[in-house]
Amino acid sequence: MKSFNKSVIIFLFLLSILFGTTFILYYINISKIQYVELSEKSLKQEAIAHFQNMIDTRIWNAEHGGIYVKANSSLELNKYLKDNHTFTKDNELLIKINPAWMTRQISEIANKNGKYYYKITSLNPINPNNKADAFETEALNYFKTNKNEKYYTRIEDNSFNFMGSLEVKRACLECHAEQDYVLGDVRGGLRVTIPIDNYNEKIMLIKSNSLSLTAAVIFIALFISVVVVYFINSIYKRQETIELLNTNLEDKIKNRTEELEASVKKLNELATIDFLTKIPNRRYFFELGNKLFSLAKRDKTELSLIIIDVDFFKKINDEYGHFIGDEVLKVVSQTIQNTIRSSDLVARIGGEEFIVLLNETSCDGAYIIAEKLRKIVEEENYTSEAFDISITISMGISCLNNKDDNELDDILIRADEALYSSKRNGRNRVSISKA
Ligand code: GH3
Ligand code: MG
Ligand code: MG
Repeated sequence: MKSFNKSVIIFLFLLSILFGTTFILYYINISKIQYVELSEKSLKQEAIAHFQNMIDTRIWNAEHGGIYVKANSSLELNKYLKDNHTFTKDNELLIKINPAWMTRQISEIANKNGKYYYKITSLNPINPNNKADAFETEALNYFKTNKNEKYYTRIEDNSFNFMGSLEVKRACLECHAEQDYVLGDVRGGLRVTIPIDNYNEKIMLIKSNSLSLTAAVIFIALFISVVVVYFINSIYKRQETIELLNTNLEDKIKNRTEELEASVKKLNELATIDFLTKIPNRRYFFELGNKLFSLAKRDKTELSLIIIDVDFFKKINDEYGHFIGDEVLKVVSQTIQNTIRSSDLVARIGGEEFIVLLNETSCDGAYIIAEKLRKIVEEENYTSEAFDISITISMGISCLNNKDDNELDDILIRADEALYSSKRNGRNRVSISKA
């Protein structure tokens, strides 16, 4: 039961650590993805800004119906434009620059600088220089099938490629009218390419940071798990040790208590049981006898007493020795016990003297029992290889006189007198005291 509890607690702790770790790792991953998305978005915004700037310039040009610049050695007439030049009053040649050509020229300047790359292109360009490459073809086809989309992007190893769609404007028709261009159609696009070395560095950094963070979180989670399991185990171990100590202590206390109880019992026995005959002793007799006396007096029931004394016992001791004398005393006490009722109280009150207190028994009743006992003892022979002894006993009887007797001693004195009377009259007899 206890080990089950321990396992449940460890399991719950590990489960919460697992949940916590998963949540943190999930959060780290989400943050990484969000950072990458945000970086791509900002690249796209950068590209859109460039694109929009170019569109505004084109609109400006278109709104002026194209612009004229002085001819110079590096500027040739636009052969794709019908109305491609004019002359000043002073007969100076002015070359017409339409939006597409202007875009192209600005792109060439930007491309020379190297950082950003612009290109105006279409699937079917008049100028072969504007022919679309793989990315541009892919973007223009995308615009063809997704008419509502204005932008197309793709990240490559070192560059962010962006294509913004270009709608056919009136200015476009000057060159492209023969190609069935319709106003508002998307036939071309302006490409903006941004180098992404900086972006790649940041992404690499965020990826390696999130990897280190993931490793650290997993390591800490494992460390906490080990520490938690260790602590729970040691707490339970300590508890088990305390419980074991308690059990041992309880066992010790139980054993001590049992020993003590046995000692008290032994002491009580020693105090109340006669060591030789193992029947109640004088002390016990007076303790219980006084109570029985009070009860009989209160309830006005009969109570009688027999004092028994072995005749000429000194002679037995002298003849056979003390040891044999003891054996005889044991047999006599046994005979007395076997003869009386179990409700009667028997005790050894002196060397070879015994006493019997008979509840609800009159002097006549006691006399019958005493006579029976006398005969049994007289007829019994105490024999062994070494001896053959026959003994007799003398007895004195007295009964409770409810009117005059106030304590047990009153009856006892009379029984003693009756015993003396038996002795005086020749022994081996029973005498009743005249109360
Ligand atoms: P009587 O018939 O007058 O009673 O004579 P008696 O010899 O029995 O009486 P007496 O009082 O002269 O002697 C009692 C003897 O009992 C004396 C004593 O040595 C012996 N006795 C007392 N206690 C013990 C005992 O525990 N064991 C043995 N073996 N003898 C005991
Ligand atoms: Mg005696
Ligand atoms: Mg005697």
